[in-house]
Amino acid sequence: MNRKLYGRLIFELSREGRQGYRLPDNKLPDALSSIPASLLRSSDPALPEVDEPTVVRHYTNMSTNNFGVDTGFYPLGSCTMKYNPKINEEMAALPAFSSLHPYQPDATVQGALELYYTLQLALAEIGGMAEFTLNPFAGAHGELTGLMVIRAYHASRGDDKRVKVIVPDSAHGTNPASAAVAGLEIVEVKSRPDGTVDVDDLRPLLDDTVAAVMMTNPNTLGIFEKNIPEIARLVHDAGALLYYDGANLNPMLGVARPGDMGFDVMHINLHKTFSTPHGGGGPGSGPVGVRKGLEQFLPAPRVVRNPDGTFSVEAPEEALGSVSATLGNFAVQARALSYILSLGREGLKQVGPLATLNANYIKESLKDAYLLPIEGLCKHEFVFDGLRDKSTGVTTLQVAKRLLDHGYHAPTIYFPLLFHESLMIEPTETESRETLDEFIDVMHAIAEEAITDPETVKSAPHDTPISGPDDTEAALHPVVKFSDL
Ligand SMILES: *Cc1c(COP(=O)(O)O)cnc(C)c1O
Repeated sequence: MNRKLYGRLIFELSREGRQGYRLPDNKLPDALSSIPASLLRSSDPALPEVDEPTVVRHYTNMSTNNFGVDTGFYPLGSCTMKYNPKINEEMAALPAFSSLHPYQPDATVQGALELYYTLQLALAEIGGMAEFTLNPFAGAHGELTGLMVIRAYHASRGDDKRVKVIVPDSAHGTNPASAAVAGLEIVEVKSRPDGTVDVDDLRPLLDDTVAAVMMTNPNTLGIFEKNIPEIARLVHDAGALLYYDGANLNPMLGVARPGDMGFDVMHINLHKTFSTPHGGGGPGSGPVGVRKGLEQFLPAPRVVRNPDGTFSVEAPEEALGSVSATLGNFAVQARALSYILSLGREGLKQVGPLATLNANYIKESLKDAYLLPIEGLCKHEFVFDGLRDKSTGVTTLQVAKRLLDHGYHAPTIYFPLLFHESLMIEPTETESRETLDEFIDVMHAIAEEAITDPETVKSAPHDTPISGPDDTEAALHPVVKFSDL
């Protein structure tokens, strides 16, 4: 590791007696005597002793060792890691929001409850659903909640044979995982060569043991599933429900609604489509919406609007038990509502077409150098199967790492699993023509370099704080402690 570039630990910068800040004198010396001796520490904590400029430089330098969407283009597929407008961060951080406690009496948090209620209505309008719960903490958590709602629906009708969930082979891994956690069996349905679900393969799988079919649209290949109306009819004829994995809602915003297509239950990833940065695995929110007739099965607690215009938190009798502590991730909800209100109805309608245009522009510009397994229009993202010229031996992983040297975050790699060298690119609606053109130039340069100088690509990255790490060693034996350095 290049310790100079990578920065040193704050403890290494510590000098005995150095001070950046001084606490006021203890004005309550007697208070200490009321704390039992067994709870008092016997020696001072080992804190670093540093002056203020050292602290500021330390953390500022550290913040530049990582890649972020604020420092460069972030074309990560399947994540809609969009640039999140700063106004939404400001709204979520308002002191009146950030200092709330989840167990405050309803009467003291009317504004927060109204925010929850209003966002729930907005998502119902966007999704074409009757009602939403905002309680789940992630997309996968939303899937589990949605499947629990589906189970409760079948159980309420005394229909206890339905133990299977049908999932396309292109599905995100969380779909079968959630089905398994919900206690259901997973049956896979195949995709056709054009990347969409094979309706002929689906038809014979549908019988009275199927609880639900889970679909993602556009699917994880970024391709719009055109046969949803037919699939919805088949699923409903079999007595099952159709579940919409809304992680890819971004290109559909204000253009088409899952509820209108025949979906019964859906989740949305607020941290993918509604302006919450989610690098590093959090924070998230996976609201679940249901069509009319399924509202009663949504989990508790719920926010309801009383006839006098006030809001309260309730746990109706028929509701599923709670799936999360309190009402979910409030700061993510605040960002989402801020995003929806600041764009407005007309602004939201532009998100999908722009994201789609940007993705198709990159795809068409690069398909001379990268292998495009499925031709045709994509939605907000698309997948290459590695470099077109396979003779160089340069892999998708190596292309991704070489991109880091050029100041770009890597696209998603080796997902979806349908191709050996998947390289999944999602530019999002926020990127300018210039950014896309520069990225396309760099991708072309790497494809060229893979032919003229493959070793340089294979040994990348060269200019990052850590270069050429052994991936397996780093995963198996990560050095996470100062004493292990
Ligand atoms: C990200 C994603 C999920 C899971 O969402 P998490 O919030 O990461 O749990 C599910 N399905 C699809 C298609 C996704 O892209």
